[in-house]
Amino acid sequence: MKYYIIFGPPGAGKGTQSVLLAEKYSLTHISTGELLRKEIESKSELGLKVKAIIENGRLVDDATILEMLNKVVSEAQNGNKGYILDGYPRTIPQAEALDKILEAKGQKVTAVISLEIDEEVIFQRIAMRAQMEERKDDMDRATIENRIVQYHKKTEPLIAYYKESGRYYRVNGNKSIDENFKDICDIIDKIK
Ligand code: AMP
Repeated sequence: MKYYIIFGPPGAGKGTQSVLLAEKYSLTHISTGELLRKEIESKSELGLKVKAIIENGRLVDDATILEMLNKVVSEAQNGNKGYILDGYPRTIPQAEALDKILEAKGQKVTAVISLEIDEEVIFQRIAMRAQMEERKDDMDRATIENRIVQYHKKTEPLIAYYKESGRYYRVNGNKSIDENFKDICDIIDKIK
């Protein structure tokens, strides 16, 4: 089983690239943000709990995220060759929890692919997405800024965490969707 993490700040194109990668490499795409938005839409207990947090651009607590992740990882699809994790892990405790889950299966993270983009591109991409998808957390500048602050504070330390394991790969995410996809596929094909 392959376990890829697609990493990067909000608006880096993690979701778009994950969909393409899942299709090309027969991977199950797990987006914790997407799962949370579905919970909000269905007005489930979890959805009601996380709605305000997400709409303020803060992070949902690690225990809640982990419970949700455990459920989907155990529901693997037929013909699944692995997973592409999009938006998870976002904190060091989440990365440690993932390592434990994989260790119990005799597995480990295959590669972390990091989409590096300039801050002004983040705002352009999110503004474009806000026109296509109606994500409340994409509509308000203060919320987007808060998500970037959370990224720097809580998520960026993961770069050092994964660099240490030698499985961290960088991609210049400022390019077009097709160019980014090609660069990511080149990395995956090399380490296969
Ligand atoms: P995303 O679709 O990945 O941009 O996630 C949207 C929002 O969902 C984030 O801004 C967080 O509020 C929440 N979220 C998604 N994934 C996580 C995670 N792994 N840990 C904490 N909060 C998350």
